[in-house]
Amino acid sequence: MKPTHIEHIGIAVSSLEESIKYYEQVLGLSCYAIEEVKDQKVRTAFFRVGDTKIELLESTDPDGPIARFIEKRGPGIHHLAFAVEDVAQSLRNAAGHGVRLVDELPRRGAEGLQIGFLHPGSTFGVLTEFCGSNKPD
Ligand code: ZN
Repeated sequence: MKPTHIEHIGIAVSSLEESIKYYEQVLGLSCYAIEEVKDQKVRTAFFRVGDTKIELLESTDPDGPIARFIEKRGPGIHHLAFAVEDVAQSLRNAAGHGVRLVDELPRRGAEGLQIGFLHPGSTFGVLTEFCGSNKPD
């Protein structure tokens, strides 16, 4: 039930290309994957930093959630993802503690992993994601 590590930190950016340059040239990380997640209306770029990843999120749609986030709050940290063994169980546990869920059930996120979100209104302002190691059914 307890998260094992920070799986990734999601960062909303206006331009994937521009921000990849910063992570590669200034921080010396290398982007190992770029993936479009149609459900979420985003293109994502991934970097590894130890056990944790940086996930850059660029909107593919002016009405998508990342576009709306940037419009309201500017680019920056968007969400924090905890690695858990069982996403469904972690969601149920959070709901049992009165936390509002964005996802009642796990769904497929980037890299084919099971994910589920908790609402930031219930998590002290941090959009929180559970990220499993299993593919959804
Ligand atoms: Zn994420």
